[in-house]
Amino acid sequence: MELLAAVSRGLIDLAQVTRVGTFRLPYPPGLQLALDRVVLAGLTRSRPVPGGIPELLSWSREKSPAEWWPLELPDGFLSADARLLHSDSKEITRTCAELASWGPDGVLEQEAVALLAELAEACGTVERFTACRDFLIQQPVILQYNPVKFLSPAVAHTWKLVQELYGAVPDRFQVDGRVYRCSGCSLLARPLAKNASWCEGGCRSSERVLESTHQPEQSRLLPLALRLFLALPGRTEQAVRSGLPARPRLLPRGLGLLELSSTDGTTCVLQVQARQEPVLAALQAAETAAGLAVPFHVVTPHDLAADPGYREAFEGSLPDSSQIRLLSADEFTTPRHATRTACERNDDA
Ligand SMILES: [Zn+2]
Repeated sequence: MELLAAVSRGLIDLAQVTRVGTFRLPYPPGLQLALDRVVLAGLTRSRPVPGGIPELLSWSREKSPAEWWPLELPDGFLSADARLLHSDSKEITRTCAELASWGPDGVLEQEAVALLAELAEACGTVERFTACRDFLIQQPVILQYNPVKFLSPAVAHTWKLVQELYGAVPDRFQVDGRVYRCSGCSLLARPLAKNASWCEGGCRSSERVLESTHQPEQSRLLPLALRLFLALPGRTEQAVRSGLPARPRLLPRGLGLLELSSTDGTTCVLQVQARQEPVLAALQAAETAAGLAVPFHVVTPHDLAADPGYREAFEGSLPDSSQIRLLSADEFTTPRHATRTACERNDDA
């Protein structure tokens, strides 16, 4: 698993440096090193191994790691159709991002946590941090920076605190001089051949609507880590927050936790997550729960929770003593007993 995570980190390094038409050897050293380790491990076990980085990339697009990985992977460790790279867009998948964040050498989610911690410090108060965090969730990809809008009195203070988190859109996301955003997940998107399209958030193609600008130099976007680990679950989090009878309190810890108090004085903490891989989600949830003295609920978008096997894999990977509950956003906010609050309600969900 550690080596698979290292390969995933290498693929992300490659994605960060690749500019269409300008790529030059050598490959990122982390990727080359991880490949060398894969080859050595495979050869000592007489298993097929990728002949080089181009073959590693094509295997990562075409096959699940369960099919090609030359080392043992625990049964059901990744979802059955997992890929490290998207088969058509060739972009990294959420599986790859989650693997890259796994373990003590994890990088991507950790980068999001570090950026949010710096922002919280710059904000000084939880109220200001909440406003900034909400801004990032709502605007992970700004198609067209509009100074009039961002410097208006209502937004200027927030923009001043968050603007340095935004960077230019990498060349490879420019297609025929346009940059695209998916209106479903608000993340980057791209049209593909044969009327197909891709978006970072993995929206269903029937629900994906692409917006675009023909002035890519005006576009700004958050780093990949914040797009995938903050903004993507953040959309569901904002819907959950507005559907609760009482306003939860944001705990500026990690990616952000929500604390809810019941009418009887009991408290619970929840985090909205949109992780593709239930086993990795459970391992992360167990780590978060270990630092809490109150019950912890993981809330996911409805589509994920409804995925066959997702709940079973999540629950099966929690430590025995864990009291973590996995709920879909709908389950969490739908009143079962109108007189009770969300914390109590979910004790018998
Ligand atoms: Zn989308």
